[in-house]
Amino acid sequence: MNLLGTRDIRQLCGELGIRPSKKRGQNFVTDPGTVRRIAALGVVEGEESPTVLEIGPGLGSLTLALLERGAKVAAVEIDRLLAQSLPETVRAHGGNVESLRVIQQDALQTASGAQLVEGTGWEEPRLLVANLPYNVATPLLLHALEVMPKLRRAVVMVQAEVADRWVAKATDEAYGAPSAKLAWWGRAQRAFAVSRQVFIPVPNVDSTVLEFEREDILDRLIQNGLSGLEDASKGQVERLRQETFDVIAQAFGQRRKTLRQALALYAGSPNEAASLVEKAGLDPSLRAERLEVVDFAKIAGVKMNRDG
Ligand code: SAM
Repeated sequence: MNLLGTRDIRQLCGELGIRPSKKRGQNFVTDPGTVRRIAALGVVEGEESPTVLEIGPGLGSLTLALLERGAKVAAVEIDRLLAQSLPETVRAHGGNVESLRVIQQDALQTASGAQLVEGTGWEEPRLLVANLPYNVATPLLLHALEVMPKLRRAVVMVQAEVADRWVAKATDEAYGAPSAKLAWWGRAQRAFAVSRQVFIPVPNVDSTVLEFEREDILDRLIQNGLSGLEDASKGQVERLRQETFDVIAQAFGQRRKTLRQALALYAGSPNEAASLVEKAGLDPSLRAERLEVVDFAKIAGVKMNRDG
């Protein structure tokens, strides 16, 4: 298969009349070695043509590398011109179009894994492999994890600073709401760094490829002393997640303030905030950056009990 190099990317942009949009994070990879490495991390040797979700295939650099490894690719692309041109690019470069399904859609609106493979007979994607658009990388991964319970792993490229946030633990400088929210779903780990020079146009930041592994939160919550969850239904866990994400957003919304102050609006008053945090077994004079996701969940659990 002929993967896309610098000349191909320039030529495709010219032929299709594409002027890369900054707003949509359109930086296209021009290095076959980089996309092959990403695809190989995702699609492991010996696995029989898995279905892979690719968000933002763009001109097809990574799509071709995934097809080369025998994957079936459900590709969600927001840009109509890019979505329309992808099958032809894949055909022209020796890829199997039968293994490609392009869905022209904002991936933040994708309803489920089933929607992506409807009518294909393919299994729902358990793997996401993508070079994510930079400004919405975290919301895109959070959304995919939420609406696709079968998604187990992700191998994604993001800008280096975003990667720092994804892997950060409580008290790390880069720790924030994205770190805590992603920790609800699982664990991110750095794989390798990628120079900005492999993109057209060249962005003003370097990138990092990460692996994300889904891990069951329920076990972690129970082990950390959250009571009453042993027989929790999916709906109850989902309600707790939403409440926990609210607490995280509020607490990091004013990250320099103590929990007593930062959660005042959420709880009703500074005193009620202090009482919630204390009942969760935590110190209200702490700041959000000291709390792990299970701690936020404890506060959310106390609030849910209080409100009935
Ligand atoms: N995968 C290609 C590559 O590696 O060269 C392109 C990656 S480029 C960084 C990000 C791609 O995501 C662009 O094609 C852009 O149009 C697309 N995109 C941006 N926002 C999106 C969204 N909300 N849903 C789906 N695709 C999106």
